[in-house]
Amino acid sequence: MEILDGKKVSNDIKNEIAAEVSKMKENGEKVPHLAAIIVGNDGASLTYVGSKVRACERIGFESTLVKMPSTTSEQELLKKIHELNTNDDIDGFIVQLPLPEQIDTQEVLMAVHPDKDVDGFHPTNFGKMALDMSTFIPATPFGILELLERYGVETQGKHTVVIGRSHIVGRPMSILMGRKGFPGNSTVTLTHSRTKNISQITTQADIIISALGVPGFLKAEMVKDDVVVIDVGITRVADESRERGYYITGDVDFKNVSKKASYITPVPGGVGPMTIAMLLKNTLLARERHRTRK
Ligand code: NAP
Repeated sequence: MEILDGKKVSNDIKNEIAAEVSKMKENGEKVPHLAAIIVGNDGASLTYVGSKVRACERIGFESTLVKMPSTTSEQELLKKIHELNTNDDIDGFIVQLPLPEQIDTQEVLMAVHPDKDVDGFHPTNFGKMALDMSTFIPATPFGILELLERYGVETQGKHTVVIGRSHIVGRPMSILMGRKGFPGNSTVTLTHSRTKNISQITTQADIIISALGVPGFLKAEMVKDDVVVIDVGITRVADESRERGYYITGDVDFKNVSKKASYITPVPGGVGPMTIAMLLKNTLLARERHRTRK
């Protein structure tokens, strides 16, 4: 069994990007600038967005954090998005989800200009991804592809089972694994909460990508020997004995599933760190495209 070490690979990617940024500086070029909008005070969202901004600073990007109160109206948020769309200094930006309930998330994601949509959530970019065109691939699926590629995990002709059909992970992952090329060329089954007898499907899988957010969902008896397991789940479980008051766990019963797996991602330290690295990679790409459009 080999661990797919997202912490290590994400550090490699960040170092590669930092080297490119150094070159840009040496050549007197503008460095990539990522902005992030956060609405409200949700603890987990503030942590995620804070990590993204810190990662930018560490590799030499410029970053801007726009904090808006939880009472922000949809119109106010759309106005801010318009400002970022038209601000030539900013190469890409993200709107941290979830948004407060008075705001229609789909309207907001549609308002981000596709050229600056480094999360890859705009329908134009999602459509391009589905059509194998050059675009921004959503960071978490992009990170999973990168892990499979860097570890040389064979995907061609394999049966990949994706658990969860969210727009940000499961759905794009199912499209990407079925694309022509590497990683891809898999035969894909997309499962969700209405899937019957999910164990019958997972026991036939060569590769399982689990993105549902239910701790310990995937058990050893649900997988076959030598399976490749990608655990996307991140759940905070309350635990008074820890200083933080919680611990982080994934969807997979790691202790037992890892005994049968050929490759497996840990939680934490697997897909999570890859997500931030790929957001940075998309921002670098956005800068490059921005520069060549002028
Ligand atoms: P989501 O929007 O909550 O969707 C969950 C999906 O799982 C839905 O499609 C749901 O089916 C399905 N599901 C729920 N219970 C199920 C069950 N018992 N059997 C089969 N399918 C079931 O989730 P998400 O945003 O994709 O996030 C999933 C997990 O990944 C969460 O733990 C999240 O924190 C984590 N995550 C991690 C990263 C990262 O960077 N590593 C990034 C994003 C998300 P229905 O569609 O039928 O409801």
